[in-house]
Amino acid sequence: MSETAGRPAGGNPVTDFSDDEVIIGLEIHCQLNTATKLFCGCSTDYRDDGPNTHVCPVCLGLPGSLPRVNRKAVEFALRVGLALNCEILDESVFARKNYFYPDLNKGFQITQYDKPLAVKGYLDIEGDDREKRIRITRVHMEEDPGRLVHKGGSDRARYTLVDYNRAGIPLIEIVTEPDLRSPKEARRFLNKLRATLEYLGVFDSEREGSLRVDANISIQPKGWFAKTGKGKEDRGRAEVKNISSYKGVEKALTFEITRQKNALRRGQKLESATRHFVEGRGVTTASRSKEMEQDYRYFPEPDLRPLRVCDWTGAIVLPELPDARRARFLVQYQCSPTHARTLTGDLRLAEFYEGIADIDPTLVATWVADTLLGELDYRDLSISAISPVQFRELVLLVKDGAITDKGGVAVLRELLDQIQASGCCESPSGCVERLGLRVLECTPEGRDPVLTAAEEAIAEHPGAVADFHAGRREALNFLVGQVMKKTRGCAKPADVNQVLSRLLGREG
Ligand SMILES: [Zn+2]
Repeated sequence: MSETAGRPAGGNPVTDFSDDEVIIGLEIHCQLNTATKLFCGCSTDYRDDGPNTHVCPVCLGLPGSLPRVNRKAVEFALRVGLALNCEILDESVFARKNYFYPDLNKGFQITQYDKPLAVKGYLDIEGDDREKRIRITRVHMEEDPGRLVHKGGSDRARYTLVDYNRAGIPLIEIVTEPDLRSPKEARRFLNKLRATLEYLGVFDSEREGSLRVDANISIQPKGWFAKTGKGKEDRGRAEVKNISSYKGVEKALTFEITRQKNALRRGQKLESATRHFVEGRGVTTASRSKEMEQDYRYFPEPDLRPLRVCDWTGAIVLPELPDARRARFLVQYQCSPTHARTLTGDLRLAEFYEGIADIDPTLVATWVADTLLGELDYRDLSISAISPVQFRELVLLVKDGAITDKGGVAVLRELLDQIQASGCCESPSGCVERLGLRVLECTPEGRDPVLTAAEEAIAEHPGAVADFHAGRREALNFLVGQVMKKTRGCAKPADVNQVLSRLLGREG
């Protein structure tokens, strides 16, 4: 009789996780936005074209064809390595990673293995109280495989088509050390990485499938990572493959933490395994068992010479990166730290802000970082949806007092709704007139609308007037409310107060 029969394998159930920590490492694949593919002259801009139209003997892997390295792609990858504070290896080597899959027409992928382009870097991200440094293990170059199209959905596909337009698009793979401790940190890291890549001009995040993430995650006793093999048991980890959205990474990791904790509570042993993230359902499911490195039979690519970049590295000048721009915004525009971080967290947003900051840096920062971003998020629109010219006009209307803050928000919502529905919108001042939102100016001479409305309100509500004269202040508030209603919220409250007080004072 076995002593362990009937008991879940793996040992004691874990009931308290206060002495444990979540350990996350990421592998990020980013498409470099070069004009041509990594090893041939085929154009990378195939979005509006039919399948298998951007291909040639090289990227189809036909016998006898030879790859040639795209110099621009190497330069882009070097920029990334330098911006991530990596050591650039003087000589890196392309290698063949052999496996069989229909999207891999050659039967192998050209990548880098034991001699990558760059190693040992870091990226600082916003931590809960101070900046946190996430170490980068390596940055290497490789080619993207083709794309499979499962007709009828991946679950119930009746047949699968393959499109090699994507085969040979230059990728960089960025591998982090397991330094991340929560899904939120992972998201912050990805946001910072995306911003950095866009500032470098090597990456377009709005391009579909331009970023894919594999996430390694496990829950280990605190200090386990530093003491591996010294008496602390490895509880096994999951590698969630091919998550293709930023939000997806956070969701997948959050799901995995719950799943792994539940298993540990039941005393189950978690085997290290590959899992697949089902975006629509927000869950991860078990997939094929993980290949071991030896299964890929890596060997140096015989058709390409080692890549020697020592002569180029010194010539690369990096542009201003997000941290430097944030520091500049604090000084040049006197932005609050929160606004500076938000505004520089995305290249397009930073440029949008700088294009109109001359109106009034503080007012514009509030309108862009707080109001506009919130409204865009709500509609799932990006900053490129609205033109800076129109937004400038809107902020100027607010600044000049032609509309109230509230009126400004109403106009913005109206414009964004139009953009969402039809892709374009009317002019902000046209919208102000159409909605009748222009602030009614109170002038000392002539019949101004606020005065008329105030006189009407007084005539219509003698009870409130009597209450006011009896010393009840809330009667004034009531009358102010009546005037605001009559002027459809376009009067400035201060004007209304002043006019009412004057009229009521005269009566008394
Ligand atoms: Zn080609």
